[in-house]
Amino acid sequence: MDYINLRQKMVEEQLKARGIRDVRVLNAFSEIPREIFVPQDFINEAYADSPIPIEEGQTISQPYTAAFMTELLELKGTETVLEIGAGSGYAAAILGKLCNLVYTVEIVALLAIKAREKLERLNVSNVVVVISDGGVGLRDKAPFDAISVTAATPKIPDALIGQLKMGGRLVVPVGNNLSQQMIRIIKTEEGIKTENHGIFRFVPLKGEAGWKKT
Ligand code: SAH
Repeated sequence: MDYINLRQKMVEEQLKARGIRDVRVLNAFSEIPREIFVPQDFINEAYADSPIPIEEGQTISQPYTAAFMTELLELKGTETVLEIGAGSGYAAAILGKLCNLVYTVEIVALLAIKAREKLERLNVSNVVVVISDGGVGLRDKAPFDAISVTAATPKIPDALIGQLKMGGRLVVPVGNNLSQQMIRIIKTEEGIKTENHGIFRFVPLKGEAGWKKT
């Protein structure tokens, strides 16, 4: 399988052609090998235009979705970023290329351990995988320049807004378990600015800020 060629095709056809413009984001997606992060059974689908199942009923996001969220974070290279939902570790590896330091929180220990192994295998040294409930953020490492939530939330988690620096961006899918609006919050001196960036579909956030079990 010619992964390098497939990866370049993904960047051209799934990202550039659909409006992803940030050259740093496009370069990061050209560099990170997605095939490392997908389960062996789905290796042939690594560059497909869709999410892919990983262990524990979770998914690795569609490349376009991951790129869209990453672009909204507007990273320049010096930032400390929090990701909620490490999953496979793929999006965290991308973020690692675009900022100074990434904390990625995962509530399922098995996934966190696997993500860590993969990041180590790629010699990614600026991504820290933390096993905890990210719905409450990561208090002892806050504040962050940018926060990305890669699971669907019923409402914007207040704790996360509190952990943003002035000027910081929070990108979070908010809605019900079928579809969510991609919300970007920007913390400004004048207050909290809220933008809606369209409809997406994510697996639900668990834990404190997620849906209560029925
Ligand atoms: N960013 C991932 C995709 C994440 S899928 C990637 O690139 O592969 C969403 C992930 O969020 C799942 O792994 C799920 O276990 C995790 N998750 C759900 N609720 C969470 C919570 N409260 N805290 C941390 N992680 C959570």
